Amino acid sequence: MATFTSHTRFLLHLHRTHLHHRTYQFRNAPPIHRTQHTYTHTPRKPTRLKLPPTLSLFVAVSGLIYYAATFHISPQPKTLNPQTFTAYTLASKTPVATSPPSHTTIFSLRPVHPPGQQLPSTEGILSVQIKQPQLQIARSYSPLPSNTGEEDDGALRFLVKLEPGGEVTRYLFSLGVEDKVFLRGPTVEYIFPPAGEVDKTLFIAGGTGIAPALQLAANSLAPETEIFWAVRSRAETGGAMAEEVGRLVRKAGGKVSVRVFVDEEGGIGVHDVERGMEGGKVAVVVSGPEGFIKWVAGEKVWRGGREEQGKLGGMVRKVLEKRGGEVTVFKL
Ligand SMILES: Cc1cc2nc3c(=O)[nH]c(=O)nc-3n(C[C@H](O)[C@H](O)[C@H](O)COP(=O)(O)OP(=O)(O)OC[C@H]3O[C@@H](n4cnc5c(N)ncnc54)[C@H](O)[C@@H]3O)c2cc1C
Repeated sequence: MATFTSHTRFLLHLHRTHLHHRTYQFRNAPPIHRTQHTYTHTPRKPTRLKLPPTLSLFVAVSGLIYYAATFHISPQPKTLNPQTFTAYTLASKTPVATSPPSHTTIFSLRPVHPPGQQLPSTEGILSVQIKQPQLQIARSYSPLPSNTGEEDDGALRFLVKLEPGGEVTRYLFSLGVEDKVFLRGPTVEYIFPPAGEVDKTLFIAGGTGIAPALQLAANSLAPETEIFWAVRSRAETGGAMAEEVGRLVRKAGGKVSVRVFVDEEGGIGVHDVERGMEGGKVAVVVSGPEGFIKWVAGEKVWRGGREEQGKLGGMVRKVLEKRGGEVTVFKL
């Protein structure tokens, strides 16, 4: 068990707990493992459950309302909202790199109805759920920041990595241009600290974790944002993503910098994190696959059906123990 000096204050961001009264808040369901989708059927003698007629009617009506409200019969909404799924059309699929072929692709989704609302991107990091209609499951994805002028049609763009055994990503990658996709959201995953509260944000992103990092870089009020982007291979940072990152850095005019760390070239080390955390009041945000988050800042935990921040660990903890001072840490 590590000890902190009296000068060390570790503040875990409690932003998620503030979110419960927000109208667009919707918590991500834990991933459903494929074994849960396997059904077996053994014929047996039918048994009749005897319920009083009023109770039967109540059960039937409640079931229908639940079914309608969650996935199926809701009237088709025209604008993105957290309760029901809204129809979008797949406008384009742009693989990040074609040579060697990359497993990450930018999906651009255009609303079927003209957009009636803007995403509240200046409030915090947002996610939106994409539905897999055959299995009736949904997963969260972080929209890339919009390119001014290019997306007046309300299109949302997502950087998605294909998981070979993954249910939603396999479905998404199988779609063709003009196919329908259903979205629900947004959820605010992390509220930006108010102006003056932090001097710098260090965002440590693994793989597609760069999408929320770019959202923060485009909208946060922090005077400086440094992004460490860890990738398995340099191909993940080329092509469409190189353009995306370059455009944002140029637009930010010196407020945003991005450093790429390639696993096979050594990856991120404690010394890099230590240097990134130099300065006055620093906020550290970590995003990426579970194992990456654990390695950088300790694992998140599930308690009572909710995902919580868990203890601070990993490289960030080591640096904080050495450095002292005040740092807020949030694991996405
Ligand atoms: C807030 C938030 C934002 C996110 N943003 C993005 C984003 O911008 N881009 C992005 O690409 N991802 C993002 N994700 C991750 C995304 O939500 C999905 O978890 C991811 O795309 C995988 O979904 P899937 O349904 O394809 O895979 P799943 O079906 O959930 O499977 C995940 C992995 O587990 C394995 N698996 C599944 N079932 C089993 C089993 N029974 N036994 C062993 N292994 C199994 C699969 O092979 C796969 O590798 C985000 C997640 C969150 C919470």
